[in-house]
Amino acid sequence: MSAPHPSTAPLRICVYCGSRHGRSPAYAEAAQALGTAIGQRGYELVYGGGKVGLMGTVADAALAAGARVTGVIPESLEKLEVGHRGLSELHVVPTMHVRKQMMAERADAFIAMPGGIGTLEELYEVWTWRQLKYHDNPIALLDTGGYWQPLLRFMDHTVAEGFLAPAMREAVIVGEEPAALLDRVATAALAARGGDDYSKI
Ligand code: AMP
Repeated sequence: MSAPHPSTAPLRICVYCGSRHGRSPAYAEAAQALGTAIGQRGYELVYGGGKVGLMGTVADAALAAGARVTGVIPESLEKLEVGHRGLSELHVVPTMHVRKQMMAERADAFIAMPGGIGTLEELYEVWTWRQLKYHDNPIALLDTGGYWQPLLRFMDHTVAEGFLAPAMREAVIVGEEPAALLDRVATAALAARGGDDYSKI
């Protein structure tokens, strides 16, 4: 079991997001706003360690706002996603699985920004880890321009068809404004702190 994070330590926010910028400039603006809000509140950012796409934008904004930023990147992706050398910590790890577990172990909360299949995979994995009670940390979607609405409808469909407990669906926090969403996530994270156990993965 990972040691409980001391309640006086800064909150560690894991952000999952696209390795591309997406079509609308609103996505990069939201990444910039989220990174800035993390730094302004004295929180830490944990993310995939790359410089490309929204990943690089959120990391640069958090660093510029004074946040400690930890990146975790697999060896095989270090060139493709351009490992960010300006971070407080960059861990280059052997596999994608080690990356995702390490990111989760270092986080008190998870926010998924708009992204592609990698982001979806990370979101669903950390959500299944909550269903399996490996952690009790908040999971949130930053719904820039309604990006996640089709997925939220599918989540409702999963509940309606009897494959997902309503409580697990309701556990997903959704918001469109980065700083306001971060504040809701932080409140939930402070209530949930401690007791993570990823040893059964
Ligand atoms: P994407 O949303 O597809 O742009 O990917 C965002 C991040 O998810 C990138 O850092 C990917 O490396 C990462 N990712 C996580 N899990 C996977 C996976 N199983 N396959 C591909 N990418 C992944």
